[in-house]
Amino acid sequence: MHAQSFDKWPVEWVDRFDALFAIDPPIINNDKKDKIVWRNGRGRCCDFSVSNVWEDLRTCNQVVPWANLVWFSQCVPRHSFTMWLAVHRRLKTHDTMGVWEKNDGMVCAFCKSVPDSHNHLFFECEYPKRVWSELKCLARLDHAPISWDSLLEFMISKPVNKSIWSIIQRLLLGAILYYIWQERNLRIFQCKARPCSELICIINEVVRLRLMSLKLNPSRQVSDAADLWGFHGPEVFNMAKLLVYNDAGGCRRYTGKGPVFKYDVGGHHFVVS
Ligand SMILES: [Zn+2]
Repeated sequence: MHAQSFDKWPVEWVDRFDALFAIDPPIINNDKKDKIVWRNGRGRCCDFSVSNVWEDLRTCNQVVPWANLVWFSQCVPRHSFTMWLAVHRRLKTHDTMGVWEKNDGMVCAFCKSVPDSHNHLFFECEYPKRVWSELKCLARLDHAPISWDSLLEFMISKPVNKSIWSIIQRLLLGAILYYIWQERNLRIFQCKARPCSELICIINEVVRLRLMSLKLNPSRQVSDAADLWGFHGPEVFNMAKLLVYNDAGGCRRYTGKGPVFKYDVGGHHFVVS
């Protein structure tokens, strides 16, 4: 490329990007491959990628305290979306709709006594309360509050990490919110109703299937969760029965000690350390 090359550019470009004339003409090295780089907002050059450019151009706000409660790598996106709406109190509950239009006929689809609201549906009303009460102990949330405001505060105060119980707690809460809201809408708009026990089974199964799809490292906590949720056969996670192999192919029972082994059970890959 030569300095004269600029002369061949459309005139309007020359007018618009006059800075081009202030740049030294590049020295072409035919032995090197062209590479596209992106100078980010901090002035650092990095590889050009859509994600790098997007990170640089988008407006970043402060991370909200409930971010990891709603969005996490193991989440079920449609459950997270419902939870996100609930956190913002944006589900179209009767108390919200009553502000737009007065309608005395709006009563909770479950108890038929009062208009519903976030606090009523999660989980003050009898039907949702039973769903929550029966399932929360499966996530070690026995002492979690019943009312949505207090529950949200409680969940935010809990440490969020990659431990199996933290994942189960967030998965379960998201699934319960999603299916309660779905059941409420089915009752209102399609006149269909499932018994409480059926909804509990559906939620339990959905969370169990999600857990089965995760790659988990065996540990005592995972073993306990697997026993409770039944997301793997005990022959895989019962540590006392777990067999591991050494480099020479020798087999022994896993004792929780010893060098790292890799093994493969039923298509699931585990590392035991
Ligand atoms: Zn109710």
